Amino acid sequence: MANFVDFFQKGKTFRPKKKFDPGTLRHSLHKHAEASLNSGINLRDVVKLPPGENFNDWLAVHVVDFFNRINLIYGTVSDFCLEETCPTMSGGPKFEYLWADGVKYKKPTQLPASKYVSLLMDWVEAQINNEDIFPVKVDVPFPKNFIPTCKKILTRLFRVFVHVYIHHFDKLVSIGAEAHVNTCYKHFYYFVTQFDIISQKEFEPLAEMTKKICKEHPPQSNYN
Ligand SMILES: [Zn+2]
Repeated sequence: MANFVDFFQKGKTFRPKKKFDPGTLRHSLHKHAEASLNSGINLRDVVKLPPGENFNDWLAVHVVDFFNRINLIYGTVSDFCLEETCPTMSGGPKFEYLWADGVKYKKPTQLPASKYVSLLMDWVEAQINNEDIFPVKVDVPFPKNFIPTCKKILTRLFRVFVHVYIHHFDKLVSIGAEAHVNTCYKHFYYFVTQFDIISQKEFEPLAEMTKKICKEHPPQSNYN
């Protein structure tokens, strides 16, 4: 069986990776975030807004990076997330997510997890590629709905962690991906709690696990 490293080297993702154009501010912020992440700094500190940087740019960079990484994580288990094994987008017996997009699914609808994640990733990708929400040019300001949209994106992406951890954890362990996924989860968790992006109730399905793995010192306010 292919291990996690092979998997990454092949670059198989559930959705194609979204990249920033070299030379843009967001590309350099992305590189900055990546470099700090690889430098062994406490993940709590890595998520803080660098001095002088704009919060919206920092948020945009993280939304795209988390989309890419969570996409990759789901890609590792997607062959095992089938209609028969996961008939609903659940997080154990107590939590279930219903899909609604206001277009095709006007009412919250129960779907198999794979279908739910597929629609979720399509939806996130459409937001990220929408230049009215994620402006590409530096002189175009972020729209008013930028932060609420990012909150919704990150809230929905968190649900993929919930499903993968609760229903496919054994698979992650068997391919040696556990440590990588935990690091990504911690980074995500510290980022969203640092800036109060996701409502507390969303964390409930993974509360126990979060307590165990997210032990770095608590966040200090960072709204420059
Ligand atoms: Zn599944």
